[in-house]
Amino acid sequence: MKYVIATAGHVDHGKSTLIKALTGMDPDRLAEEQQRQMTIDLGFAWLLLPNGDEIGIVDVPGHRDFINNMLAGVGSIDAVIMVVAADEGIMPQTKEHIMILDQLKIKKGIIAITKIDLVKDREWLDLVGQDIREAVRTTTMRDFPIVQVSTVTEEGIPLLVESLQKVLKTVERVDKNADPRLAIDRVFSIKGFGTVVTGTLLGGTLELGREVDILPSDKHGRIRGIETHKHKIGKALPGSRVALNISGVEVSEIKRGDVVLYPNTFRSTSRLDAEINILLSATTALRHNDTVKLFHGTSEVSARIRTLGLDEIKPGESGLVQMELHESIVICKGDRFIIRRPSPPQTIGGGYVINAVPQRRYKRYSEKILNSLTVQISGSERDIFLLLLDEKIIVEYDQLMETFSKEGLDAKQAIETLQKDERVIDFFVNCPQIGIVQFYSSSDILKQLGEDCKSEIMSSQAAVPLLPGIPIKNIAKKHKILECVLEAMVTQDLLGTDYYCKMGYLCHQEKPIQFSEKDLSKIKRLDSAFQENPYSPPSIEELQTLIGIDLVQALLFQDELIQVSDSIVFKISDFEEMRNKLLKHLQEHGEITLAQFRDLFNTSRKYALAFLEYMDAKGITQRVGETRKLKR
Ligand code: GDP
Repeated sequence: MKYVIATAGHVDHGKSTLIKALTGMDPDRLAEEQQRQMTIDLGFAWLLLPNGDEIGIVDVPGHRDFINNMLAGVGSIDAVIMVVAADEGIMPQTKEHIMILDQLKIKKGIIAITKIDLVKDREWLDLVGQDIREAVRTTTMRDFPIVQVSTVTEEGIPLLVESLQKVLKTVERVDKNADPRLAIDRVFSIKGFGTVVTGTLLGGTLELGREVDILPSDKHGRIRGIETHKHKIGKALPGSRVALNISGVEVSEIKRGDVVLYPNTFRSTSRLDAEINILLSATTALRHNDTVKLFHGTSEVSARIRTLGLDEIKPGESGLVQMELHESIVICKGDRFIIRRPSPPQTIGGGYVINAVPQRRYKRYSEKILNSLTVQISGSERDIFLLLLDEKIIVEYDQLMETFSKEGLDAKQAIETLQKDERVIDFFVNCPQIGIVQFYSSSDILKQLGEDCKSEIMSSQAAVPLLPGIPIKNIAKKHKILECVLEAMVTQDLLGTDYYCKMGYLCHQEKPIQFSEKDLSKIKRLDSAFQENPYSPPSIEELQTLIGIDLVQALLFQDELIQVSDSIVFKISDFEEMRNKLLKHLQEHGEITLAQFRDLFNTSRKYALAFLEYMDAKGITQRVGETRKLKR
């Protein structure tokens, strides 16, 4: 296995010397550093552990001015060696580094008490150990082993190597098969090769010969060479220190903070949703509209904070924010970052990216937004799914897949997990507008929808008793789904077994139309109108004038009347009599003309034509020349 570790700790506490003792290499690579005996940029060294594991070591400078470099170094490591000199003990930068490592949720590492040769007093050493334990008590470093070492006497060095080996065995790499990204920490050119960049590889492998994009500088190139720890390789593995020789890009065109990635895998962004924790040690609260420096990977940008649920985030507290970055960076959901105040420079907290590509600038104090962000932090399949159902009562399979992928989940697996939940319902709809589509919903939500519909039916009937139910159109619109989908759901009993759709209405078995005494006497009047001329009845307009639109509509709904054309309506019993006679005629004679039909019922051409066209439309008869025959 290959790992990357970093050092941290106060200046002059012996980080570089310790690495030299471990690896035989001097991480203070620049001549200037050698001269000043101070690490000013990230030095790199590597070490082969006794068990064959290889560690790349990022030596992080301890000097206060160079805290930015320190942040670039620890952005993507597996573990850390926190160094505290025995003679000085905990110093201000020790504390700041502990806070940063805690904010970045670095969970693996070792605390090395260095320079123990300088301290003769064992009690003093014990005190330093106790101080350290106290300083890390509430942090991710609380269980780190403490090892005492001296690079002068080499005491403790073998134990340090052994502990390192043990700690690294517990490192879990989560995103093994994700897309690769390499945050550039150094760019330089080598004579005869051209541009070389270095960084720690995250996510997935990078292969020789592949095209790459470099964002946000927006350059494109090809990997001409890969080295790790000075060995040429064909494929770089995630979690290793890598140098890439990239063709097609000039050194001047790219910079530290850029990220090397395969095309179309990540985007750069200048807005993100995050949860931010403000350190208890911060001197002021983080206020709405404050500008801070955001450190992520090897990039550093100014960002304006928009606090979404609070006026300010006080020291020791956390809150949801939207950050507007002054420049774009490549950052992903789940990444951690550090924020500092520019002046006086102070690390004030850290954060977690909830969404790296929010679609819009949010309104503050919106309960819906706050709820949505909280759910995205929890990240469970069910929560994400329910959030989608907040918008619509059902979700299409494709949308579900897309959302899960966006949340960084294996979409197929996430859907399988979801389906194990008994409350999750999936069903197919087949209608001309959309074809065959699979939808997902929750039994609780559908049950609630059914109950809501039932009470809506009751209240609309309380206002207009002649209504058979509520228009499907209205409910579909209200819940942002297609009418045909809603009808399919009703047919599949998803709202409950007592619902049905008819003539554009959603109805409930227990809530039929209620006819009043007055209605019933009007219906009697209608009956006599039909009796006078059963085969040439009054037009629909005349009927409406006689008994009212609502009542005509209710009778049509109840199948007491049947409408065969825009204006022609028959009483159902008359219609059935006509139909039976027609069928009998066709069985006996094989065909019928319009005139014959008209004479059969002693009606007019208008009624005869409307009736026969209706029968054609229903697929009972078909027109053949001037006659009609039974449709086979
Ligand atoms: P860094 O700034 O944390 O990287 O510290 P360096 O590794 O540059 O060490 C700072 C000084 O401490 C140097 O002069 C080292 O020689 C000295 N030093 C480092 N480790 C030890 C040690 O174990 N014992 C003693 N006596 N001095 C040490």
